[in-house]
Amino acid sequence: MRITGWLPGLWLIVVLLQPTLATAGEIQEISIGVLAFRGEAQAQRRWQSTADYLNEEIPGYEFEIRPLSAEDMRSAVAQNELHFVLTNPGHYVELEAAYGVTRIVTLKNLLRGEPQTRFGAVIFTRADNRAIRDLEDLRGHSFMAVGPHAFGGFLMAWRELRAAGIEPERHLGELEFAGFPQDDIVYAVRDGRVAAGTVRTGVLESLAAQGLVRLDDFRVLAPRHTEGFPFLHSTRLYPEWPLARTRKASDSLAEEVAVTLMTMVPSQRAALNGSYAGWTVPQDYNTVHALYRDLQVGPYAVRPTFNATAARYSHWVLAGVLLLLGLVALALYLRRLKLQLAHAQGFLDEETANRERMSRELHKLSQALRQTADSVMITSAGGEILYVNPAFEQITGYSSEEVIGLTPAVLRSGEHDEEFYRHMWHTILGGKPFHGEFVNRRKDGTLVHVDKTITPITNADGSIDCFVATGTDVTEIRLAEQDRRRHRDDMAHVTRVGMMGEMASSIAHELNQPLAAIANYAQGCVRRLSSREYKVGQIIAALENINQQSKRSGEIIRRLRSFVSKGESKRSRADINQIVQNAASLAYFEARKKGIILRINFGTRLPPIHADVIQIEQVVLNLIRNAIDAMAKNLWNKRELRIHTWSDGRQVVVAVWDTGHGLLPEDQRRLFDPFFTTKQHGMGMGLSISRSIVEAHGGSLSASNNSDQGATFRFTLPVMRDEDEDNEVTYEHAS
Ligand code: ADP
Repeated sequence: MRITGWLPGLWLIVVLLQPTLATAGEIQEISIGVLAFRGEAQAQRRWQSTADYLNEEIPGYEFEIRPLSAEDMRSAVAQNELHFVLTNPGHYVELEAAYGVTRIVTLKNLLRGEPQTRFGAVIFTRADNRAIRDLEDLRGHSFMAVGPHAFGGFLMAWRELRAAGIEPERHLGELEFAGFPQDDIVYAVRDGRVAAGTVRTGVLESLAAQGLVRLDDFRVLAPRHTEGFPFLHSTRLYPEWPLARTRKASDSLAEEVAVTLMTMVPSQRAALNGSYAGWTVPQDYNTVHALYRDLQVGPYAVRPTFNATAARYSHWVLAGVLLLLGLVALALYLRRLKLQLAHAQGFLDEETANRERMSRELHKLSQALRQTADSVMITSAGGEILYVNPAFEQITGYSSEEVIGLTPAVLRSGEHDEEFYRHMWHTILGGKPFHGEFVNRRKDGTLVHVDKTITPITNADGSIDCFVATGTDVTEIRLAEQDRRRHRDDMAHVTRVGMMGEMASSIAHELNQPLAAIANYAQGCVRRLSSREYKVGQIIAALENINQQSKRSGEIIRRLRSFVSKGESKRSRADINQIVQNAASLAYFEARKKGIILRINFGTRLPPIHADVIQIEQVVLNLIRNAIDAMAKNLWNKRELRIHTWSDGRQVVVAVWDTGHGLLPEDQRRLFDPFFTTKQHGMGMGLSISRSIVEAHGGSLSASNNSDQGATFRFTLPVMRDEDEDNEVTYEHAS
């Protein structure tokens, strides 16, 4: 009875809940990829309210913002992960060409409080720069932009420069990329750190409105006037950022999103938080296509035609045909040879027998040779000298009368002989010949290096009769080696200092930042203290900041000093990851300035090496700098440098990978030759020195082209062995 009363109640609850459950189940997640050019957090902050607005206005969907880099957005679209993309016009046309994304609305941006659906770039110099009055005058002068792919921050200006006959890489003195915020470019021009620069429209006016610069301080190059556009600009204007749908978004959803966004009013929270005025019908992006066409980049990159490819590789085709003909001729020749070989087999057997006989004679001869080495000394089993030949006298400067009857230890000139001799006799008594090098002082005071073997001569019963010591004077060889080593160290030092000289300006630029920050904090403290209205906590915080910034600049200077110091070449136990880290931190500023992404993949738990740390740092830095140089002409192609360290247990390996111009086949053989360079101001010593440093450490350095683009330089170093620590000891002994 109770059960029958309870069941219909449950059934009613389930039926009543059903529509709610169904709606909850149908909520569909919609991803909007947003170009995060100033970092993920900033993009999330700016666009989250727009997603919230769509969530409120369009039920049944959950819109979420995904901040992405340009490259990540491309792969997310390729993998069909996004429904919408919000990106700059340049990136949009690339995605449109590659994946068919379609714009549905264009952003009404707010430029100093006014809604704008177009924007451009301004190219400017200092007002008092007399040398630069027009775009053509930029030839030979330094120029700063945001990044090689920045649409408003570089590509727009590049188009106008090209129209004025200036190719940035070829004709500008130096092209520097400062990244975001664009304000830095304005300050760099104002402070005379670069001759000219380019930024998006509105940046100059906004800094001027905040009182940070004065517009009168700048001269706009090739200024334009466009009806209804009140901002300084030197380039054509282009439509603002579009919101585009991908194939993943349905027509009805795209329509709903477009309508909802177009009806947004400027006072909406989404618009206020996103600093924009609303959205309008999609603009015409043909002007953006025209820019890419003019620059021949992105979707309009020039692909080599079949004829051009054929012409380029014609010598390889010819070489292939010749090789084939050669192979056919070789095959015919080999057939004939085979027949002849069969006949010659008999002669060969006889020849083999002859060779065996000869090798036995050779062995006997080599025994005899040992007896006639430069110096020969015979000692008794107790170590007393029984005989020395004239060569011995010549090398050591001691006559036979002086040394016969003595033990070799008496003649020593070094200080640590006793222990060494004990060790030596022990080795000999162990029955093995002893081989070592001895440094002896002649009577005239000069040093002589003797490469000596001491062999025990045994009696028939196995007891030791006497020792025969044979040696060769290797003084000349050792002196030459020492000379070579010193020369290599000197050259390494000179090139190291040179390398730093080239990087000095970017490092000095970097030092400016902590120094400027210190000055700012210090001024702040002075202001607060003199006004007498301050909290101790604020002053302490400022002082702590000063302390931190001065530590930062101190660290940069310390690393620089140790890098250029001359110091004796000395090896110690070292960690390759630390070495790579040090070198990369010195090169980091230069890489950033050139718009290069630097990624380091450190191998874990790598065994230690035994190395001269500064010299290996020099090798790494040289490879990094070469990679940076090789990417300098990549205006469009991505600039990426990857460093990877790993170990196979016997050696550690460092690979430096780039997306530069790669190595020409004819240059590959000569890369490591001294003075080989393909750079206008190159010395051609970097790789040659690097290879000799690596080889002196028992490793090797090699280079190869990557399968798609750029080159990889790889070097190996043996891992540290137990005996490495004592290897440096030189024995100084008498013969
Ligand atoms: P320099 O840098 O003064 O030219 P190097 O000995 O360091 O002297 O380099 C010699 C040459 O090797 C360079 O001029 C360049 O042609 C080539 N090279 C070196 N590294 C690379 C690289 N990563 N990609 C392409 N070419 C390179």
